[in-house]
Amino acid sequence: MTDQFQHTAYICVGSNIGDKLLNCQKGIAGLTGNGQCVLEQSPFYMTEPVDYEDQDWFINAVIKIGTALDPFQLLDLLKSVEKNAGRCSREKIRFGPRMLDLDIILYDNTVMNTDRLTIPHPRMHERRFVLQPLCDIDFSIIHPVFRREMQYLLNHLTPGEQKVVQYR
Ligand code: AMP
Repeated sequence: MTDQFQHTAYICVGSNIGDKLLNCQKGIAGLTGNGQCVLEQSPFYMTEPVDYEDQDWFINAVIKIGTALDPFQLLDLLKSVEKNAGRCSREKIRFGPRMLDLDIILYDNTVMNTDRLTIPHPRMHERRFVLQPLCDIDFSIIHPVFRREMQYLLNHLTPGEQKVVQYR
């Protein structure tokens, strides 16, 4: 990574409407097209919906990026890439169907909790669709709040719940 990208962030990419894989790929391309450097990418997974279960399965992946943006600038970029990928106001149900969802999972070792942004992502530690692809990239990352390895958090999810199946 060059000096230009002082920070490392992990982004969860997801879609469960339309051409889900293409939507995720467009999301990743939207980040690289806007100056972010993709350092690593997990496999794509087909993942069972959680929280709001009456919807189609998602495709998810996690990417590791190098960035010069601060966390709020990065969030603004994610929102604009989501919008360009066709995410619209009819996606009104919290945790409901979406064309493209981009979440900041981790940003360096930052811990922050504001109205707009919480880092680490406040539900990452209970979501297999985040922890599995994150562990594919690096299972030894320490969660900056719980002080546990990501592999530990993944191993402690309830077995058999939240199915994830590698897509390719
Ligand atoms: P979404 O899941 O995309 O519908 O996100 C809804 C809102 O969650 C966003 O508009 C952000 O203001 C907020 N949010 C809080 N923490 C995060 C995070 N770590 N990553 C992305 N969005 C976040």
